[in-house]
Amino acid sequence: MNRGIFGIHHVTAITSDAQRNIDFYTNSLGLRFVKLTVNQDDPTSYHLYYGDELGRPGTILTFFHWPDAPRGHRGTSEVIATSFLIPENSINYWIDRLRSKQIEFRGPYKRFDDEQVITLHDPDGLELELVAHKSAEERTVHVWKGGLIPAKQAIRGFYSVTLSEEGYERTASVLTDELGFMPTRQDGSRFRYEIPNGDAASPGEESRGANIVYVLCIPYTQQAVIGIGSVHHVAWRTPTDEQQMVLRRNIVRAGLNATPVIDRFYFHSVYFREPGGILFEIATNPPGFMIDEKLEDLGTHLVLPPWLESMRKDLEKVLPRVQLPKKDTE
Ligand code: ZN
Repeated sequence: MNRGIFGIHHVTAITSDAQRNIDFYTNSLGLRFVKLTVNQDDPTSYHLYYGDELGRPGTILTFFHWPDAPRGHRGTSEVIATSFLIPENSINYWIDRLRSKQIEFRGPYKRFDDEQVITLHDPDGLELELVAHKSAEERTVHVWKGGLIPAKQAIRGFYSVTLSEEGYERTASVLTDELGFMPTRQDGSRFRYEIPNGDAASPGEESRGANIVYVLCIPYTQQAVIGIGSVHHVAWRTPTDEQQMVLRRNIVRAGLNATPVIDRFYFHSVYFREPGGILFEIATNPPGFMIDEKLEDLGTHLVLPPWLESMRKDLEKVLPRVQLPKKDTE
């Protein structure tokens, strides 16, 4: 039964180099740079956002720019892979593209009977996957037509995230009982959970897909250290503030600590740690990235939430200069 979660809202990771990050995600992967802003909890550092044309929930990858953070170490209790959806017949295009840009990759390899997977890393070492799956046909809305990749081959938002855990049952019970995921596949220590697809057309929910989470049990490794090249947290999307409150209440009833609702300006957020220790967020779909920029201007200049606007001059002095993608992209 749907609990008010429809899939991934955004994934937030950590980068050491804002410019290299912008170049990689816009030039190499062809995402739209949708917002240059600051970390609300640490406004002297950037918060970078990528996505489809609007930065719709289900397509948003964000980065904290923390050049002085320690390097991340892979292990349990983290989002160990972030996967983008690509069309089934685009595998060869992507292989050629990665080769021409001298980006190392593994694959393509088959996962279950319906996925073709290419694994690669961003310049900070963040593990990414390009997953070719037939559901890409239904998600043409997420193609960024102004980007550098032809629409036929372009990324169509997220496909999944993979959580690395020591064990799985308690994490699984939060995914299923609180967030509404259903167990659908298992292969050894890899478990797939999905928000049933039919639910994706509910009122206020314009995104589809990005509705898969993998749990991968790797008990023999160490706990992950979250740092540069790691995912910081994953956010799940919910259409309304009311649904968010119900979800929050259920999460607290399940014995987990949760933050109050925090206004992130582009969405409203509640954070909690799932039993395996990974930071989860529940984020509302509205209001979205056009609250402070027009569609054509998204990502073209530094925007600050209203309560930080009075600090703009000081912040601009300490934030490093970055070259943003041009309007209309090349
Ligand atoms: Zn977040």
